[in-house]
Amino acid sequence: MAHLKLNEITKTFKNGTEAVRGISFDVADREAVFLLGPSGAGKTTTLRLVAGLEDLDHGQISIGSVDRSRAVPRDRNVAMVYDKHSLFPHLSVRENMAYPLRIRKMDDAEMMRRIHSVSEVLQIEAQLDKMPGQLSGGQQQRVAIGRALVRDADVFLLDEPISHLDAQLRARMRVEFKRLQRDFNATMLYVSHDQLEAMTMADRIVLINKGRIEQIDEPQAMFDRPQTLFAATFIGEPVMNSLPVRLVERDGDHWFEIGTSLVPVESGWINSAAEKLNGTGEFTLGVRPQHLELADATQHGESIVHGVIYAVETLGSRVVFDIEIGAETVRVMTSVDEARSFPSRIGSPIAIRMSSEFFYLFDNRDGRTLLQAPFTAKSTH
Ligand code: ADP
Ligand code: MG
Repeated sequence: MAHLKLNEITKTFKNGTEAVRGISFDVADREAVFLLGPSGAGKTTTLRLVAGLEDLDHGQISIGSVDRSRAVPRDRNVAMVYDKHSLFPHLSVRENMAYPLRIRKMDDAEMMRRIHSVSEVLQIEAQLDKMPGQLSGGQQQRVAIGRALVRDADVFLLDEPISHLDAQLRARMRVEFKRLQRDFNATMLYVSHDQLEAMTMADRIVLINKGRIEQIDEPQAMFDRPQTLFAATFIGEPVMNSLPVRLVERDGDHWFEIGTSLVPVESGWINSAAEKLNGTGEFTLGVRPQHLELADATQHGESIVHGVIYAVETLGSRVVFDIEIGAETVRVMTSVDEARSFPSRIGSPIAIRMSSEFFYLFDNRDGRTLLQAPFTAKSTH
């Protein structure tokens, strides 16, 4: 295994698409780093650049401290896991797994020893003599992973290896992957568009958008302290609410005007970013649905914001209320028990209790985080 380092890499395709616009990050020896971002962000291109399947325009890629920026794929000693559709349908599971070893001319005894040890961990020993078509989707995917793991690669590259599986199997594979990475001490760069996958499996997440890095952090840190509105709304489910607010100041006290209500905010918190706050007083407020509370429509006062039910989604143990406040929709997530005390009919008046403890503040102009929520300063990681 080895350390992988990307330094200011760029790639523009011949048709002018700037897929990767100066990306730098590293993957430590035995670390699982997730390259996370929406479709078209440049994830696959970055992975292909590391594998040597695309040529770099600028920047350097080093593997195990050796510059491999211009090396042919074979000299990089990386193993790429494709999805299950890349298995050879006319070869048995054993021969599919043997394939990368045969082209490296490994002797038969060593080859069979490796195939057996990997298939034991992947629990596909009983399938070795079958053809891929005789296996379930999940088993096929494990064979595809096994085919990469049998090699003694320095770095494993995985491009959305489980995104085609059904939800139940995906949940199981998330757990299995985590164990595999431990068991094999693998240095892993894993591409995904699924924030849940990254949150549950990554040591660190590299969040990319439009070919650029938004943030690099451990999962919980990225969730608690997003550096941009993009990161705040990409990570977490249900998605963080974002709404335009005006900051009002009177005699040194501060409020946000939300709908027709004023929600008090800590002056100390606002003042800590005084030099960054623009003159207009207009910002984007962020608050997660689980950090809001429902309140009775008859209640009035500070921190109570009034609205109308737009939709109610029941998720089994949780209920999500979509509430219209003027032109904005705010989502509130609550427990089933809690939800029972409130109306659920579309159009019913309802209120939300907001605490500035959970407010994030973003710059309207560039989407940067101006202030992290006060509660995050108290949580220790
Ligand atoms: P992701 O994997 O994050 O969905 P990709 O790396 O596949 O994104 O693509 C990034 C951007 O580059 C997209 O706009 C995509 O259309 C474009 N792109 C990818 N491959 C090529 C190619 N071979 N030629 C031209 N454009 C490409
Ligand atoms: Mg892709």
